[in-house]
Amino acid sequence: MNKSLPVLRQQAIEYLQYLKEQGITHVPASGKRLIPPSRPRSRPAAGPAARPAPAPRPAFVVPAPLQPLVDEIAACQLCPLAKTRQHTVPGQGPLRPDILFVGEGPGADEDAQGIAFIGRAGQLLTRMITAMGYTRDEVFIGNIVKCRPPGNRVPTPEEMAGCIPYLKRQIAINRPKLIVCLGATAARGLVQETLPIGKARGQWREFEGIPVMLTFHPAYLLRDPSKKAPCWDDLKAVLARLGRKPPKA
Ligand code: URA
Repeated sequence: MNKSLPVLRQQAIEYLQYLKEQGITHVPASGKRLIPPSRPRSRPAAGPAARPAPAPRPAFVVPAPLQPLVDEIAACQLCPLAKTRQHTVPGQGPLRPDILFVGEGPGADEDAQGIAFIGRAGQLLTRMITAMGYTRDEVFIGNIVKCRPPGNRVPTPEEMAGCIPYLKRQIAINRPKLIVCLGATAARGLVQETLPIGKARGQWREFEGIPVMLTFHPAYLLRDPSKKAPCWDDLKAVLARLGRKPPKA
């Protein structure tokens, strides 16, 4: 028997649950993936017999004030990542969230679906968010770069410089109460942190008057679970600053 089937089933259930929370009520039965707002890089040529392409279906709900920015990101050709991406990953979440999480950039799963943090690191982030007493759709989840760097390499300074204005505009529109930078790239990109993340984590910075907590990236926690405890301390400090406590288990 294929041992990975129960894991895949659980992942499918969690993903469907997540889509339901985002307001998606139907998914295609054919096994084809949902079409996120950005367009795939290449499309089959439309021949005379080809049926008209279905209208793109949003894979998550975009608050109206953010839609123009999402469209702009979907059309972006500013850096070489535009040539290798499948989908842009603008990030998703409500306006005026308590927390806006910033990661580094999309991985393979995110590139395939156009949704931030849905792979293994994303599943851990979801558990962290739940442990804090929130659901994924109550917080904003985004990244420093909106397109996948090939092979999941760290984005170059030029790629970051080209893309960060989108994040800054998202923050200006979203106006979160607080920002959490996940990992060194987010900290360097958003608040020009120069300390290694191992030293900077747990410290507060500020961006445009918004408090910013620096902590580990969930992908790093998957590689080194001993860092989960200090990361949880950071997230508890975030809750305290919001006047909240983690829910009782
Ligand atoms: N890692 C990130 O930094 N962002 C994602 O969206 C997924 C993995």
